[in-house]
Amino acid sequence: MKVNTKFIKEVKKYGAFDISACFNCGNCTAVCPLSAEDVSFPRKMIRYAQVGAEKEIEASLEPWMCYYCGECSDTCPRQAYPGEFMMSLRRYLISKYDVTGISAFFYKFPWVQNLLTIAIFAVSLIFFLSYTGDFQELAEKIEMAFPAYVTLAIIAYVFMFYKKTIMDKAGKMLISFDFKNIWETLIHGLTQKNFSSCSDTDWTRWIAHLLVMSGYTLTLIISNLHLLEPLRIHYGLFDISTLLVFYATFAILAGGFVMMFRRVVKQVQSSSFSHSTDWLFVVMLFLIGLSTFATHTANMALGPDSDTVSILYKFNIAVEMAWIVIVVPFTKWIHIFFRPMAIYLRNLKKEKQLV
Ligand code: SF4
Ligand code: SF4
Repeated sequence: MKVNTKFIKEVKKYGAFDISACFNCGNCTAVCPLSAEDVSFPRKMIRYAQVGAEKEIEASLEPWMCYYCGECSDTCPRQAYPGEFMMSLRRYLISKYDVTGISAFFYKFPWVQNLLTIAIFAVSLIFFLSYTGDFQELAEKIEMAFPAYVTLAIIAYVFMFYKKTIMDKAGKMLISFDFKNIWETLIHGLTQKNFSSCSDTDWTRWIAHLLVMSGYTLTLIISNLHLLEPLRIHYGLFDISTLLVFYATFAILAGGFVMMFRRVVKQVQSSSFSHSTDWLFVVMLFLIGLSTFATHTANMALGPDSDTVSILYKFNIAVEMAWIVIVVPFTKWIHIFFRPMAIYLRNLKKEKQLV
């Protein structure tokens, strides 16, 4: 086993924990609701980190199973914050799956990511406001380019995840066509079912996540299929697109507000330690929801030829530019793919008896 003696120091750059204080009492494993499936969960990861087993951690699915209920951190007698450690591992792993190395850089220097996000937003907005051509046509081209860019990023991440956890171990490609496995993966992906495994289920967090996820997925569909043309069409209150925008906005704003509020009051473990990228994520989501809603309601009230609608729409597309280019490929957004995929790969490992 290849050992990296600086591993804990390296992972500490991705979060606030003190796993070096751990004296292996096993409390965290005893209380973790997921330890029924894996007896040493999450202690196996802690041990790996303590001995610097970097490759073993990179080949592990466990960090993606953890839903950060925080029960382990609450009961740790050494304030080692194992829940936050698992969160930090997920950030660390995202940076390892990212072939460009940009995620690692942003996690270590989050202010650069924040500055770049603001810069891309500002430059886009200035350009859009001074654009004299048909802005609706330009917006269509921009929105149609997003899916290709995001899909490329997702494929690259997912391939690296699969390579490190399955291919490197098996020495070949393995796939499961088992219907039960595919079904379970879908259920976990759509409902984040593991949240309910916690003995004291945090329903507020679960609902907030579901709202944000559904609202954001809907917004992605609306924008990437270019379903809205606020500078061409005058929308009515009962149009399908209006109902979709209203639901997406309500879901993002309500879920986003709950997430931000909890990060400010820090009453539960999962919201006690916020990395700068967590804030960037929720703030940008909030802005997307708000600007989409403002553009749409202004369109309903003033019509597609209104200057107010045009300005709001340009603001909305400028926020989307910064979100898609800088935030989406390099932050925890990618979680939504890794969590269900980890379930699929865990079942695949069992099916193929890959230990
Ligand atoms: S509860 Fe704390 S001290 Fe005990 S094994 Fe877990 S992390 Fe280590
Ligand atoms: S945060 Fe919850 S799910 Fe994650 S390791 Fe700790 S107890 Fe287990």
